[in-house]
Amino acid sequence: MIALQTQQAAKPATTSTTTGATTGTTASGASFATALASAMGTQTGAAAVAPADKSYTLNSKGIPAELAAYGNGKIPASALEKVGSTGHKLWAPAAQNLNQMIADAKTQGVTIGITDSYRPYEEQVDLAKRKGLYSQGGLAAKPGTSEHGWGMATDLDLNSKAQAWMRENGEKYGFHENVPREPWHWAYRPKTS
Ligand SMILES: [Zn+2]
Repeated sequence: MIALQTQQAAKPATTSTTTGATTGTTASGASFATALASAMGTQTGAAAVAPADKSYTLNSKGIPAELAAYGNGKIPASALEKVGSTGHKLWAPAAQNLNQMIADAKTQGVTIGITDSYRPYEEQVDLAKRKGLYSQGGLAAKPGTSEHGWGMATDLDLNSKAQAWMRENGEKYGFHENVPREPWHWAYRPKTS
């Protein structure tokens, strides 16, 4: 945090095109938040609402309209965001909340790993072949229906301490344990309007 503030203060205000007039005079909380968002690779538009704080309109199946328009397992890279430094991706608001949750858990001595995230359609087909359909006692959703195909679910690597922490705190970050037999599967529910 301190290093980040120093870096921000040392940066000539004239080089900043994204934050405009809000920087340069005072090291306000807003500009620090912008610097933090920038450092985390998120959008830096001063007036932009972070996707994780936005409210979304859901369709009858609980899917945000903007995602439903792409189709399950067909979400473009532009709508996805990386989870930390892993190769995993989720729908951007879910990724941002997951990153925050993992960081907060870490400060409390809880380690949350990640084993799966967004799953393109072809991977859903492959998984169903390997693990069987959930409806038939297996562990895979019918291809084209998986929450992973919307980038709205993640499979976490949790020890017993982390599992308990998630059950206590997951909902604060929008993550819900919603599949019996799969305590590792956590679905993201955005704020709704
Ligand atoms: Zn899962």
